[in-house]
Amino acid sequence: DAIANQIAAGEVVQRPASVVKELLENSVDAGATHIELIINDAGKVLIQVIDNGLGMSETDARMCFERHATSKISTSEDLFKIKTMGFRGEALASIAAVARVELKSKTGEAELGTFIHIEASETKKQQPVSTNQGTSIAVKNLFYNVPARRNFLKSNPVEMRHILDEFHRVALSNPAIGFSLTQNDKEIYLLPAGKLSQRIVSLFGKNYQKQLITCQEETHWLEVHGYIGTPEFCKKTRGEQFFFINNRFIKSSYLNHAVQGAYEGMIQEGQFPFYALFIEMNPVHIDINVHPTKTEVKFDDERSVYGIIKAAVKQALGTHNV
Ligand code: ADP
Ligand code: MG
Repeated sequence: DAIANQIAAGEVVQRPASVVKELLENSVDAGATHIELIINDAGKVLIQVIDNGLGMSETDARMCFERHATSKISTSEDLFKIKTMGFRGEALASIAAVARVELKSKTGEAELGTFIHIEASETKKQQPVSTNQGTSIAVKNLFYNVPARRNFLKSNPVEMRHILDEFHRVALSNPAIGFSLTQNDKEIYLLPAGKLSQRIVSLFGKNYQKQLITCQEETHWLEVHGYIGTPEFCKKTRGEQFFFINNRFIKSSYLNHAVQGAYEGMIQEGQFPFYALFIEMNPVHIDINVHPTKTEVKFDDERSVYGIIKAAVKQALGTHNV
């Protein structure tokens, strides 16, 4: 029901960036090879994601706004095991509870697609529509029916910063998918599908091209790969530092410390290197007793992970210096 959806929405939908994250991850899960993100007014007026993924049947399109009775995961360990980004089956229901949503979707086989307009969990219109294979979801006037939440939103630059953070994370962890981002009718990113190094350059700038060092390390229970920035390329803020575990973005001040430590003697206090590091490991070693929507994780053997990351970065820096 509407009230339950609105309460659940508080968990999933904190700000426009949360909607962006959920929609982008759904498109990734749908096997899209191209994903378009459209933002007006820092997502307060419009957040739209258009993909060329599998699309939804008429039934699926109707059902996707229902909160799923069962979840794809039962333990937190499952979170890092499952192949899809989504697992709770409540994102779209939550979003639809606090916005005006227009969905257009079509599968490859279907002749016609489905259009659904829903406002505050209430279906206003549903009709067949001719459209390409894939899904378009437009989320308009977020929190229009929850003034307390709407008033809580920060300024456009702050909300846009959060949106860009989510966009960067999804784009970095899916370099084989092409992305675009249009902000207030201006295309600000056009990211062709390619390799991780190309994705980093098209996301953050041409000056990254000569500053990336490959980082690679493998033990019997953990694998690290990705890129780190040269010591000369440090910034004065912690901007572009990314960890992914089993392709999920995570925050870890502990692992961040391991990377910073590897640069010791090469960089000054208050300087922050670039890194985008992907850790692959058996999820039994990840100890999450935090909420699944949060990005913090713990490891059952933190010190070992710390040591491996630090050694991997040190080694990468060493090869760079030779
Ligand atoms: P979850 O991703 O956790 O399953 P969501 O509420 O995010 O839950 O999505 C509900 C369902 O709607 C998904 O499981 C999927 O079947 C369908 N869906 C959502 N977005 C898309 C999309 N872009 N393309 C195809 N199917 C989608
Ligand atoms: Mg989802």
